[in-house]
Amino acid sequence: MIDLEQKIQYIKGVGPSRVLLLNKLGIYDIEDLVTYFPREYEDRSEIKKIADIEAGETVCFRAVVVSKPNEARIKKNMTITKAIVRDETGSALLTWFNQSYIKSQLEAHEEYTFYGKVQKAYAGRIEMASPIFDKEGETKNTGKIVPIYPLTNGLSQNVIRSIIENALKLCNDQFEEFIPSSIRTKYHLCELNFAIRNIHFPDRNEDFMTARKRIAFQELLLLQLGLLNIKEKGKIEEKGIKFNKDVLVDELVSSLPFKLTNAQARVWAEIQKDMEQDKPMNRLVQGDVGSGKTVVAALAMFKAVKCGYQASLMAPTAILATQHYEGISKMLEPFGIKCALFTSALTKKQKEKLIDELKNGEIDIAIGTHALIEENIEFKNVGLVITDEQHRFGVRQRSKLSNKGERIDTLVMTATPIPRTLALILYGDLDISIIDELPPGRQKIDTYAVKKNMENRVNEFIRKEINSGRQAYIVCPLVEESDVSDLKSVQIMYDYYKKVFPEFKIEYLHGKMKNKEKDEIMQKFKAGDINILISTTVIEVGVDVPNATIMCVENAERFGLAQLHQLRGRVGRGKFKSYCILKYDSKSDVVAERMKIMQETNDGFVISEKDLKLRGPGDFFGTMQHGVPEFKVANLFTDMDLLKDAQECAKNILEEDPLLKEDQNSGIRKKIGELFKNKLEL
Ligand code: ADP
Ligand code: MG
Repeated sequence: MIDLEQKIQYIKGVGPSRVLLLNKLGIYDIEDLVTYFPREYEDRSEIKKIADIEAGETVCFRAVVVSKPNEARIKKNMTITKAIVRDETGSALLTWFNQSYIKSQLEAHEEYTFYGKVQKAYAGRIEMASPIFDKEGETKNTGKIVPIYPLTNGLSQNVIRSIIENALKLCNDQFEEFIPSSIRTKYHLCELNFAIRNIHFPDRNEDFMTARKRIAFQELLLLQLGLLNIKEKGKIEEKGIKFNKDVLVDELVSSLPFKLTNAQARVWAEIQKDMEQDKPMNRLVQGDVGSGKTVVAALAMFKAVKCGYQASLMAPTAILATQHYEGISKMLEPFGIKCALFTSALTKKQKEKLIDELKNGEIDIAIGTHALIEENIEFKNVGLVITDEQHRFGVRQRSKLSNKGERIDTLVMTATPIPRTLALILYGDLDISIIDELPPGRQKIDTYAVKKNMENRVNEFIRKEINSGRQAYIVCPLVEESDVSDLKSVQIMYDYYKKVFPEFKIEYLHGKMKNKEKDEIMQKFKAGDINILISTTVIEVGVDVPNATIMCVENAERFGLAQLHQLRGRVGRGKFKSYCILKYDSKSDVVAERMKIMQETNDGFVISEKDLKLRGPGDFFGTMQHGVPEFKVANLFTDMDLLKDAQECAKNILEEDPLLKEDQNSGIRKKIGELFKNKLEL
């Protein structure tokens, strides 16, 4: 068996200086080298006739050199070598600059295959600059599909190609297959050695496609397995609570002032089914702002309490926790369910009392910040923990969070709309439910993207709205330069708007403020005592102020679309028509395109998908700071179908062999271990 960890200097063609160059590309051992996949391919397999070739095409053609190429000096440092070649349909003029050696490589009356970009073409005659070529019978550069590798200075395509070719020869098709053949058959995947050979040097396009599919599938499968493995481990190690099937939530549903949307009902059914099974629930509920996640959380807590357990809801900030407490206690207290709010605003005495009541079971539902799990708070018998995440946690953090409780059911709610395929990767360790529908009758928020020169009109518009009793948010971006804090950028805006609107009450919020101060200002805004609230993005994503109808974003070009969408979700929460004004200052086409998307759609999923397309998944992942490894081949957009297959396959594997202990899965297990190294605790 080949030693893949063998250093690259043992490969033919790799001397000390090339070792350094390859190291620069992250290539240290043979495995790195054979998995250094091409960036793209040039299909030079089709040979055309000269008469069929058009200007602008990049093509191969076979032709005979008419006479010895001639060389001329056209400037002091420049020579030009010209050759006339012909096939039975026409002729071609080929030119090379400063490549004197060409004339010794091209023999008159011999046939060669040329490859290059056609500059001009007219009736059976073409012109091409700097074509590459092979002698008759050779296929070094032409007549096949040629891989193009990402390079570094000092390394040419030809050199890296031949190094990789030599490495593959050395490996001699001895890569150990680790995907069981039953799986390969089911998903039509080729064998590993075929895949590696053909992802580098395919003879035919079909072979390349087959090889690529296998490698992409393998990447997606291993990632998914790694993530699912974390989840499954938790599930099989312990049995969870089996909430009683006969305890229904109908009375709560019929007490609501509205009918559940179809999406809410579907997601509730998924949650209920989880709760009634004896595995601990680990579910993510994803839903756009305003889609009604809180009600669904309330249903789950209602069921838990009716079954004799306590429940808990954690929110990232005190103000959100307070809002949840108000909404949820209003829904549940009529049924004799006692809710309590745990925040840092409690006095010591109040807190001690609540802690007691929670411990002896007088309190059914504890709502609060993360302090709920960190502090010395004990439940009598908690059965369900819900976290309203808003911001994403890394995979690892989250698994720690759910490990806090024992065998309890956990539900995570997030307002970040992520395309489902991506969510399956990012939250691969959770089951996912999506509320993909807003309650009926929501007013559309009108969005306007404007440039600086519209400032006065925007201000007049804000004045008019406030004079008719409404309120406005103004959001400015965090300032990047280290010497300017977000405080300063907010203060500058504050001074500016003070001058523009001397008649209004304006306040500002910034990240450095104490939570208590922030909460006080938010409460005043909520109560209508402040007309305009200026802030960085610290305004809590879930805060409800129905009277606020304007969301004005300064330098909107500096925000991600998903973030703008979240901000926009702060308005339009009451009966009044609401507006989102995106002020931007940029000539870039991408910015214009992004602003256009915001104006055209209010659908968070569409927005995040488009954002992803414009920015690329790399960026998207980067901002999430989680430990998911990168893909070499798989593409989360174009490989969606493959991703689904890989996800199904991963599930099936783990159903039969949750800990990957069986022989046929030992290769997979080893690969996952290597892939995740210390990124995840497996
Ligand atoms: P989010 O998903 O952003 O947390 P909320 O749960 O806060 O959304 O709900 C937003 C608003 O919509 C609340 O005022 C809530 O009462 C209302 N709501 C929730 N579900 C429905 C429904 N099915 N029909 C009408 N209004 C609803
Ligand atoms: Mg919410």
